[in-house]
Amino acid sequence: MDHVAEGSCLCGRVAFRISGAFERFFLCHCKRCRKGTGSAHAANLFAPAGRLDWLSGADLVSTYRVADTRHQRSFCSACGSAVPNKRANGAGLVVPAGCLDSAVALRPDAHIFDADRAEWDAHLEDVPRLPGRPG
Ligand SMILES: [Zn+2]
Ligand SMILES: [Zn+2]
Repeated sequence: MDHVAEGSCLCGRVAFRISGAFERFFLCHCKRCRKGTGSAHAANLFAPAGRLDWLSGADLVSTYRVADTRHQRSFCSACGSAVPNKRANGAGLVVPAGCLDSAVALRPDAHIFDADRAEWDAHLEDVPRLPGRPG
C-alpha cells in the first residue's frame, strides 16, 4: 500500500495503522469539535477510501455520537485521547492529526465552521512563542 500512516494514543495502549491516502485536512472550529478536543479546533484528516487496522487496544476504543447528528468521535477509554473513527455515513475515516506518529505531508485545506470560533481564537500567530514551558 502506498499510503500508510501509524498512530497511537497518549497512554500507548491503543495503536493503529491507516492504509489509504488522506485527501482532505480540515481545522474545524465548530462548538462540538471545541468541546470534544478541549481546544480551539479539531484537526482532522479525511481518508475516504482508508482502511483502519487496530494494532493494539481495539477493546479500549469507545465512540461517542451526539444524538440525532452525524458528529462522532472515538477515543481511548483509558486516557481519553482522540483516535480515528469511521464516518457515520460510511464515507471513510476521520483521523485526528494529533494522534499520528507518522509525519503528515498535507497542509490543512481550510478552517471550517470559522464563524463558530472561540472569542479568544484570533491572531494566535501574534502570541509570543516559547521553545518549551514558561519559566
Ligand atoms: Zn490511551
Ligand atoms: Zn467540528
